[in-house]
Amino acid sequence: MHETDVVVIGAGAAGVAAARRIAAADIRVLVLEARSRVGGRAWTLRAAGLPLDVGCGWLHSADENEWAAVAATLGFALDRTPPPWGARRRTIGISTAEQENFRAAADRFFARVEEAATAEQDRPASDLLEPGKRWNPLLNAISTYISGAELDQVSVRDLGNYHDSGENWRVVEGYGTLVEAYGAPLDLRLECPATLIDHSGARLRIETAQGDIRARAAVIAVPTSIIARESLRFAPALPNKIAAADALPLGLDDKLFLHVSEPEALPAETRLFGALDRAATGSYHLRPFGRPVVECFFGGRLARQLESEGDGAFARFAIEEIAAYLGGDVRRLLTPIVGSAWGLDPFALGSYSYARPGHADARAALAATVDDRLFFAGEACSVHDYSTAHGAYRTGEEAAEAILKMFSKLGALNREA
Ligand SMILES: Cc1cc2nc3c(=O)[nH]c(=O)nc-3n(C[C@H](O)[C@H](O)[C@H](O)COP(=O)(O)OP(=O)(O)OC[C@H]3O[C@@H](n4cnc5c(N)ncnc54)[C@H](O)[C@@H]3O)c2cc1C
Repeated sequence: MHETDVVVIGAGAAGVAAARRIAAADIRVLVLEARSRVGGRAWTLRAAGLPLDVGCGWLHSADENEWAAVAATLGFALDRTPPPWGARRRTIGISTAEQENFRAAADRFFARVEEAATAEQDRPASDLLEPGKRWNPLLNAISTYISGAELDQVSVRDLGNYHDSGENWRVVEGYGTLVEAYGAPLDLRLECPATLIDHSGARLRIETAQGDIRARAAVIAVPTSIIARESLRFAPALPNKIAAADALPLGLDDKLFLHVSEPEALPAETRLFGALDRAATGSYHLRPFGRPVVECFFGGRLARQLESEGDGAFARFAIEEIAAYLGGDVRRLLTPIVGSAWGLDPFALGSYSYARPGHADARAALAATVDDRLFFAGEACSVHDYSTAHGAYRTGEEAAEAILKMFSKLGALNREA
C-alpha cells in the first residue's frame, strides 16, 4: 500500500496546476493519470512536422491567463496574431456587408444573454433567438463551437457568467506541449485510472489499476463525465456530486487538420464557415500560423454524428464543405493529417462542460470541498472561466491553496498537542 500526503487524480491542466502548487510547498503529492500521457484535453500531436493542437489551442483571456506566465517561465513562444473570429473581414466566402450584418446580430444576441442571465428564472439560450431571423442557424452553429451543444441545451445564466477579456493568443509549440512540460517534474503514475475513493476511514483509500494508495487528502480533477457515469466512485457515495456533474455535461467539439499541398492557394489566418444557413456546419481556420494546414472545427450534434460514422467521415464532410465555397479543384490540395474524437475517448467522453438550463449553480456544487479532504478541480468547477484550460488551472490552484491551508491548520494542531 503506497502512502502519501495528497493524491491528485487526473493530470490535465487542473491536476497539473494543483500538484505543482502543492509540491512547491514541500508536501508529498502523487498524481494519478489514466492515460499514458499528461495534459488531458490539452493535447498537441506532432504530424507533418508540425505541432497540432487537437484539444485546446487558444489562450483565451490571454492577458489574464496564467498559462501565459507559465509559457514565459518555461521559454515557450506565444503568438499574438488575433484569431480570425475576432477581427472583422477575416471570414472569407461572405461579403463584408454580410459579415457586419452577422456581427451585429451576434452582438444583439449576446447582449440579450447578458441581460437575461441576471433574471430570476434561468432558461435555454435558444429562447433568446428572435423567431425566424436569418442568422439563427449560424448563431446555433457558433453555440456548438463555444459550448459543444446547440442553444436549446444551454443555460442562459451560465452563458452570461462566462468571462472573456477579448485577448486570444497561441503557443507556437502547442498548448498541449506547454501543459505537458509543466507537469513533467511531478511524481506521476501514468496508465493508472482511479476507480474508487473510500473516504470512510481516517485516511483516504484510493483504488487504482496499480493497487491501493492511502492519502490524507485528494484533488479530484477529472472531467464531469467520469463522475456522472461513476467510472470513478466514492464510498460512501456522494449523490450531490453525481447530480452536479450530470447537470454539467461535456459538449462535443472535434478538430481535424487537413494538409494543404499548395498553401499559397489559401489566404493565411482566415476563416470559412461551411454554410451560413444551418447549425450542422464546420468552421475552417485556413493556414493558422501561416502553416500549410486547415484546422477544421465541428461541434454539437454534427460532431456526434460524424464520430458515429467512423473513419474518414470528418474529412469527407470538411472537404465537401470547403469545396462548395472554394471550388472543386481545392479537393486535390487537401489531405487529412490528424483529428480528434473526444466523445469516444473513455477518459473524456466529450470536450468541455456547459450547464443545462436551470443548473448554472451546479458549478459551485461540484467545486465544494467534502470533509476538508476531498477537493474538486477541473474546468467545470469554474463559474466564470469554465470550458477553458486557464479556468482549469485556476480551479487546480484554488484546490491546492485550500489543501495548504488545511495542512497548516493540522500542523498547528499537532504542535499544540
Ligand atoms: C477540441 C477542443 C478544443 C478546445 N479549445 C480550447 C481553447 O482553444 N482554449 C481553451 O482554453 N480551452 C479549450 N478547450 C478546453 C480545454 O482543453 C479544457 O477545458 C481543459 O484542458 C480541461 O482541463 P481539466 O484539467 O479540467 O480536464 P482534463 O484535461 O480532461 O484532465 C483530466 C484528466 O483526468 C484523467 N482521468 C480521467 N479519468 C480518470 C481516472 N478515473 N483516474 C485517473 N485519471 C483520470 C484524464 O485522462 C485527463 O488527463 C478545448 C477542448 C477541446 C476538446
